[in-house]
Amino acid sequence: MTTPIRTEEDAAEATLRPQTLADFTGQQGLRENLAIFIQAARTRGEALDHVLLHGPPGLGKTTLAQIVARELGVGFRATSGPILQRAGDLAAILTNLQPRDVLFVDEIHRLQPALEETLYPAMEDFQLDLIIGEGPAARTVRIDLPPFTLIGATTRSGLLAQPLRDRFGIPLRLQFYTPEELLRIVTRGAQKLGFALSEEGAWEVARRSRGTPRIAGRLLRRVRDFASVSGIPADRRMVDDALNRLEVDAKGLDAMDRRYLRRIAVHHNGGPVGVETLAAALAESRDTLEDVIEPYLIQEGLVLRTPRGRVLGVPGWQHLGLTPPAGFAI
Ligand code: ATP
Repeated sequence: MTTPIRTEEDAAEATLRPQTLADFTGQQGLRENLAIFIQAARTRGEALDHVLLHGPPGLGKTTLAQIVARELGVGFRATSGPILQRAGDLAAILTNLQPRDVLFVDEIHRLQPALEETLYPAMEDFQLDLIIGEGPAARTVRIDLPPFTLIGATTRSGLLAQPLRDRFGIPLRLQFYTPEELLRIVTRGAQKLGFALSEEGAWEVARRSRGTPRIAGRLLRRVRDFASVSGIPADRRMVDDALNRLEVDAKGLDAMDRRYLRRIAVHHNGGPVGVETLAAALAESRDTLEDVIEPYLIQEGLVLRTPRGRVLGVPGWQHLGLTPPAGFAI
């Protein structure tokens, strides 16, 4: 329920997606800077410099990329790192762009290394070097591309090759949202869905959304389901009840988060424990732990990432209702 990863049902999110920068809640510093760069590029009639959006899933990277294209008044093309398999796939997309268009590449850290290298001259000089033919007859042709803006999205900029990272003139990091920002998102979402949610009910959803708008949207839709079937007005108590049924606890953690915390507490005496060990024990991939589960737990101080492994923080022990073993030191 609280996975920030996009699911089939989230396609319905389209109705809740903000359409303009002014509509986009939170990420204030990032939004203000972006507005200036967009205005400058528009005034000069140039393509916006390449943008790298970096942050945990569900914080609005795709939404922001679409907004940038709309505010620039240019076309938007979207693809993703794992979809692009051959240099020809990338070439087909690049050569079909109109001048100043935005090309959005989601999960850019999963791009094949050979394709990354094709991107370097495309990003820097708007030129594409294509190899035609094989063996001794192979030759390189250089194709001019229209100036365009690449917007890359990644959950882990650390996995990007340095030369690729260096080619993004505008690197932006998205932060988890505050409960106040999520309250605005939830209230606006409820209005759009025509759902009578009390202010206290909206607070409850906001506080329990793991700092993530995608989760807020999903919890909001589930609470609406409970309210419409039960006929009970969506006040704080009703929302609390609905979220408890969904096993979303008071801090917004779900069953998987709690299993993760409990594993460190009970099986490893609070840690340190290596991430690979945890991944094996919980039957999750290391990537899922690092990209999806840990960022929020770390930001809330429930878990600490140390050179020797993961350690349960004081709030982590408190959340589980456990006391650290004697001699446990962080
Ligand atoms: P992923 O990396 O998994 O693709 P993402 O970071 O690109 O995720 P989006 O798909 O852009 O996330 O956003 C998820 C949903 O959250 C959107 O459908 C949108 O409704 C909502 N959302 C995101 N950011 C905001 C915001 N600032 N204000 C209101 N709603 C938002």
